[in-house]
Amino acid sequence: MEIHSHIDEHLETDLLVVGAGIAGISTALEAAETGFRVILLEKEPFIGGRVSQLNQYFPKLCPPSCGLEINIRRLRDNTNIDLITLCDVANIEGSPGSFTVTVNQKARFVNNRCTTCGDCVPVCPVERDNTFNFNIDKTKAIYINHENAYPQKYVIDPNVCLGESCSECVKACKYEAIDLKQSTKHIQIKTKAIVWATGWNPYDANKLEYLGFGKYPEVITNMMFERYSAPNGPTKGKIIVPGKNKEIDKIAFVQCAGSRDELHLEYCSSICCLASMKQAQYVREQYPNAEIHIFYIDLRAQGLLEDFYSKTKKDEKTFFHRGKVAKVFKDDTDGQIIVEAENTLEGKLHQKKFDLVVLATGMKPSNKMNGNIIKEFLDDSGFVKTDENYKIIGCGVSTGPKEVASVVQESTGAALKAIHYMKGGK
Ligand SMILES: Cc1cc2nc3c(=O)[nH]c(=O)nc-3n(C[C@H](O)[C@H](O)[C@H](O)COP(=O)(O)OP(=O)(O)OC[C@H]3O[C@@H](n4cnc5c(N)ncnc54)[C@H](O)[C@@H]3O)c2cc1C
Repeated sequence: MEIHSHIDEHLETDLLVVGAGIAGISTALEAAETGFRVILLEKEPFIGGRVSQLNQYFPKLCPPSCGLEINIRRLRDNTNIDLITLCDVANIEGSPGSFTVTVNQKARFVNNRCTTCGDCVPVCPVERDNTFNFNIDKTKAIYINHENAYPQKYVIDPNVCLGESCSECVKACKYEAIDLKQSTKHIQIKTKAIVWATGWNPYDANKLEYLGFGKYPEVITNMMFERYSAPNGPTKGKIIVPGKNKEIDKIAFVQCAGSRDELHLEYCSSICCLASMKQAQYVREQYPNAEIHIFYIDLRAQGLLEDFYSKTKKDEKTFFHRGKVAKVFKDDTDGQIIVEAENTLEGKLHQKKFDLVVLATGMKPSNKMNGNIIKEFLDDSGFVKTDENYKIIGCGVSTGPKEVASVVQESTGAALKAIHYMKGGK
């Protein structure tokens, strides 16, 4: 990350929260509602993190909007919080009580006059991969992730935008909300405490060639499946076989795809089994007669979420197979996808055919991808250490894989620890 000697803006706050997923938002709210000033930084153009990409989330299976909307309203109404999007931390100096943080903020090219009327979209002549939908579909260069995305304003992707030589969006915008001259801003923030809540990325399934990912469109990841199932996703929530537009008769969920494997992710992401059982329910809602097969090494459904497992087990057309999947390939005669796994209870190798295969890939901390700024606070897997050295306070999945309820609890703890520093504690 480039550190600039020229600073465009100097800011001061009590607490800096890096990452505006559910962890960062919850921490920021806890501290701000206690009366402290908070700056909340987000690297993407919109907040909400991975939860905003889910169709529904357990335990209640509500859509992400139900949890996020309340928090976003609290965030919007709280004058103690300043949200800065499109930001990356370039440097951190100092220690609890007195940090100086340098941040680079990319241009949005759209200002606060945007009403999200959408007149700019049809006139835009270029497209980009829709990263919010894991590149399943496209958006125009000027886009918004979904209708409830926050902040409620469009953003322009400079990697594909034709710039001032085109300016079709500028001409179409009656509110003068588009400014193609905006450039990167360098901001220096003085803060008493830092909470690091940068969350996770899905493990890169392109590394799982033996499981057919990237080779067959009918093999997708669990997060892609969330997007296919979501009403604001690429198929408006209709679960179909990608590439074939076909309904589902038989679907497989492959657990531990790249997890608990020293060649990929050596740890268990703890929620993938539950996520697949949740996704089995999405299938059942749309396809009362579809066969659902879950291939697992051992099933992990902790605490109250055990109920979820019991419920899934009662479904007569959901089958659990104990055994690690060895390979996934295509039968060229009928175009179906074959999952080959050893059933470890019987000691036999089985092959079964499916329309669609969902790989339950795990959560990889984004920390390592965030450069070396906080390298000294990370464990070998890239999670922020929580047992020592509280110079930077980690929270959410940045400290280890977990579900939303645990993330929110940890966020309250992180806010409390930050308050200790903000009050001069060591
Ligand atoms: C398939 C699947 C299904 C799931 N379903 C459920 C479910 O039903 N129920 C449940 O409770 N949990 C579920 N989870 C887990 C849930 O997604 C996580 O618990 C949750 O996303 C953790 O939130 P977070 O804020 O820690 O991280 P994230 O959601 O990853 O948010 C982190 C934020 O930080 C931002 N960021 C990253 N780097 C930087 C940086 N350098 N600077 C600034 N910002 C940065 C990111 O853009 C993001 O907005 C599921 C997980 C998977 C894999």
